[in-house]
Amino acid sequence: VKEDKKAKDGKKQTKLGIEFAKAENYSEWYSQVITKAEMIEYYDVSGCYVLRPWSYAIWESIQEWFDTGIKKLGVKNCYFPMFVSNAALEREKTHIADFAPEVAWVTRAGSSEMAEPIAIRPTSETVMYPSYKKWVQSHRDLPIKLNQWCNVVRWEFKHPTPFLRTREFLWQEGHTAFAGAKEAEEEVFQILDLYAGVYTDLLAIPVVKGRKSEKEKFAGGDFTTTVEAYVPCNGRGIQGATSHHLGQNFSKMFDISFEDPSNGQKTFAWQNSWGLSTRTIGAMVMIHGDDNGLVLPPRVAAIQAIVVPVGITAQTTDEQRKELTSTATKLTEQLLESDVRAESDLRDNYSPGWKFNHWELKGVPIRLEVGPKDLAANQVTAVVRFSSEKRALSLDESLPKSVKGLLDEIHAAMYRKVLEARDAHMKVTNDLEEMKRLLDEKFIILAPFCGKPECEEEIKKSTTREDGEGAQMGAKTLCVPLEQPKEKLPSSCVLPACKSSPQFFALFGRSY
Ligand code: AMP
Repeated sequence: VKEDKKAKDGKKQTKLGIEFAKAENYSEWYSQVITKAEMIEYYDVSGCYVLRPWSYAIWESIQEWFDTGIKKLGVKNCYFPMFVSNAALEREKTHIADFAPEVAWVTRAGSSEMAEPIAIRPTSETVMYPSYKKWVQSHRDLPIKLNQWCNVVRWEFKHPTPFLRTREFLWQEGHTAFAGAKEAEEEVFQILDLYAGVYTDLLAIPVVKGRKSEKEKFAGGDFTTTVEAYVPCNGRGIQGATSHHLGQNFSKMFDISFEDPSNGQKTFAWQNSWGLSTRTIGAMVMIHGDDNGLVLPPRVAAIQAIVVPVGITAQTTDEQRKELTSTATKLTEQLLESDVRAESDLRDNYSPGWKFNHWELKGVPIRLEVGPKDLAANQVTAVVRFSSEKRALSLDESLPKSVKGLLDEIHAAMYRKVLEARDAHMKVTNDLEEMKRLLDEKFIILAPFCGKPECEEEIKKSTTREDGEGAQMGAKTLCVPLEQPKEKLPSSCVLPACKSSPQFFALFGRSY
């Protein structure tokens, strides 16, 4: 009977695991990780996905951290409707020209056609700014600093990928208006720092802060700043979040104006908008996951430490069994009291081996094993998900502190690993042929660039190849890094045919 049970458990174990190696087929690997780790459930509307508690908890951690950050800057939360009238949507021409192909429309209510179709927000500039017009009468009404946590819909036609590119996604969008350009521009970079913090301090992912090129900037804005991450397994860049300075373009279209007290002139407000989406979670999965599944950075993990009793055999007495269970429970309570997100897995219908695989697949940063030998030595065995390292921790009042210390160590080591991989794959060149070669070797490239959209288009064309999934992939500028390489800027642009002088080093890469 025992043998049979073992065989059954063995089978279950293989069922739990990921069948694709990340290095060989990252796209199948990704789908398996997010479904088997219980982050995503597929849905029958293409490009839309169910966010299960295991992934939603990560979003909640990000929300809490970022929300605290923006409130310190004086931003307040609010909520605007998800519907936009055609008239408002079309007010800013460049903006709508860019978004139009992706806007979803409500055309019918029940069986009757709507007198006028209503759009679903792809972003809320055009939803919010008619109200801003009403609220701004004098310079004293400024600044306005509002944010909303909501969903938006962009009916994208590029291949959808859970979290990374979805048709409905959750995000925050901040919309601020100022009396002066300087204050507004300052805020763009304060927000950018918070976005960088979400990646570096929570998700253990290094990012490059930069400005978007003319071609890639937000439609209707003056300039766009961005944080860009690097995905080591496929060498692609990923836009992490964007903070836009809209200048006076929208305020002129929506008449958000006031009388300048110094000269009595009608003046338009300077505006920003900034957004961070559930794409963050996809970047985290792609960048940290391994062949055994998800690897959660400790600061966003719903469970940071899972306590599992082990070493129970036929010889274990009821007394010993009870002691193991009560130690596991006490230990968990002790951790919870110290704000470590801990849980104990005391289910008796699963073997310890099954539980190890289960929590490993779900990416829990630390497993704490409590067995008879551990108890005898007054210790627990901590097993680190990220490195498989085992460490004995004393089972006394110092335990929460040791676990917290270990969580911080894990965060730092996870960050370092990605940073090293990225830095080993980021290179300066001003040779287009070398750039093509490097792109195929999973590099992102810093190259002297004139900044013109037509040159960017040419570079994209000349670096285009199939991505293995049937899509065409050319390199584009990820950003113009705020911190430029130490090298002197050469006298010619990376595109040999270009006769203009380079303005900066731009970071090029294939991207999501
Ligand atoms: P944008 O308003 O276009 O600047 O977008 C703000 C942020 O939302 C971007 O920086 C992306 O990280 C994210 N984002 C844009 N499109 C999608 C999408 N289809 N799915 C998930 N996240 C997205």
